[in-house]
Amino acid sequence: MALGRHVDVDKLIGECKDHRAFKHSHDSLELVDIPYASRYDNQQEVPRFRLPQDGVGADVVYQILHDELMLDGNPNMNLASFVHTWVPPQCEKLMMENLNKNLVDQDEYPAAQDIHDRCISMISHLWHSPAGSSIGTATTGSSEAIMLGGLALKKKWQERMKAAGKDIHNPGPNIVMGAEAQVALEKFARYFEVEGRLVPVTKESNYVMDPKKAIQCVDENTIGIFVILGSTYTGVFENVQEMSDLLDDYEKKTGISIPIHVDAASGGFVAPFAYPDYVWDFTIPRVHSINASGHKYGLSTVGVGWIIWRTPDHLPKELIFELHYLGETDYSFNLNFSRPAHPILSQMFNFLNLGFEGYRRVNLNDLAKARILSRALEGTGYFSILSNVHVPKPVAERGNFGDGDAEYYHEGLPVVSFRFTDDFKKQNPNLQQSWIQSQLRYYGWIVPNYPLPPACDDTEILRVVIRESFSGDLLRKLVEDIMSTVENLLKDQGPSFSMSHGAGNGKVKDKHAKWDSKKIKDNHKTHSKVC
Ligand SMILES: *Cc1c(COP(=O)(O)O)cnc(C)c1O
Repeated sequence: MALGRHVDVDKLIGECKDHRAFKHSHDSLELVDIPYASRYDNQQEVPRFRLPQDGVGADVVYQILHDELMLDGNPNMNLASFVHTWVPPQCEKLMMENLNKNLVDQDEYPAAQDIHDRCISMISHLWHSPAGSSIGTATTGSSEAIMLGGLALKKKWQERMKAAGKDIHNPGPNIVMGAEAQVALEKFARYFEVEGRLVPVTKESNYVMDPKKAIQCVDENTIGIFVILGSTYTGVFENVQEMSDLLDDYEKKTGISIPIHVDAASGGFVAPFAYPDYVWDFTIPRVHSINASGHKYGLSTVGVGWIIWRTPDHLPKELIFELHYLGETDYSFNLNFSRPAHPILSQMFNFLNLGFEGYRRVNLNDLAKARILSRALEGTGYFSILSNVHVPKPVAERGNFGDGDAEYYHEGLPVVSFRFTDDFKKQNPNLQQSWIQSQLRYYGWIVPNYPLPPACDDTEILRVVIRESFSGDLLRKLVEDIMSTVENLLKDQGPSFSMSHGAGNGKVKDKHAKWDSKKIKDNHKTHSKVC
């Protein structure tokens, strides 16, 4: 069989089998071999795409799935994700003990519910809610939290418009956000039929929304502005204070008051600890709600996000449901009914275990590593850096901070976004930046290469997210591997077969060939457009 021709591996392997089942069953093409077949007393093959007629012993099933999951990347070398992958063993133990608890059963598990409520209280205080302990809920992540935050804005806008005797259907509501918005924000717009107005980003705006441009996109049908504390591209914070000031001016001129929801998915657990004096949260009266991901810099395991409203009055009553359960009344305002309690326990574990100072240490450490990595990459001469947590602020804004303090530099997430320098690209026009991604994958690293948001999307960036588990040793090894990757590419210049083949391997396979991807693409334009 010649390499390079399209080969259906399942079919090929099916044809190569001498198993009896192959002759008797159409399912045979879907069979996996039994691993450890002679060790376990199990001679049955297991279908991959259909429910097996008879079950398979628990030991065998464990072994099959355990081995298959080893094919997943090593979480510690996945530098693409903001989602944290490590908690202390005591936290794991606590979660295991409570794996079977459903948070919705508030009467059955009042202690878990109480811990949830205390998390809300701790976070409200952290974000300076004027009510002290305010109202909010755990969610599965920031995405669910953003749906709820957006819905609250939409309901409140409807109330305002109805009270003023105005039409809520024509032209209908809109929401303004930077073009670098994470997909959840655009999903909100599309799912809940709000026109998404994307404010174009530029190099000059540091690839995040410029409030001065955003203000030009608002009108009386604007339900709110999503302000993003920590771009997923570069980690740069959008300026909540400036956005709020401009909306104050707008209100003075027009009488229209437009609220802010802060998407602080990552920044919500970075800014309060790394930059305690930085103003972005409920300290600003126009900030009505904030979301964050507990599983990002909240340092919990995957499965927990938070949304907090400024005061209970900022949560529209239509979003609240009364649940009657075992004779008691509870209130619910999230999208899920059942949900595991253990991610919330992992959140509380971290709150109690680390305290403010612990979170601050973790954050400062992450940021210090981001600075080292940025300088090292810049120092190679091959790369320029687009993130800015290593760039000193103007002298007047540095206060008494020294170059060992995070506050000496621009505020942002511990993220390093980089690209080939213009000089390097000119000298090596055939060398594709995406090859770095695929070559690093051979060392085990996952470092994504992808285009910047619309209008800047002719520029591609490589991005490293620094998390707690990224040790100094790993950092040294990463720099070494990036260096040898570039040097090997330089030696092997040009799109040689092996290189272009390698680059192809780095691309995501189209898993959804059965969907009409053109229709899906066209659909993208229905609810979000550049304003
Ligand atoms: C990760 C992220 C989200 C989505 O959060 P999940 O917790 O993954 O659902 C939304 N906005 C921003 C800015 C993010 O970084």
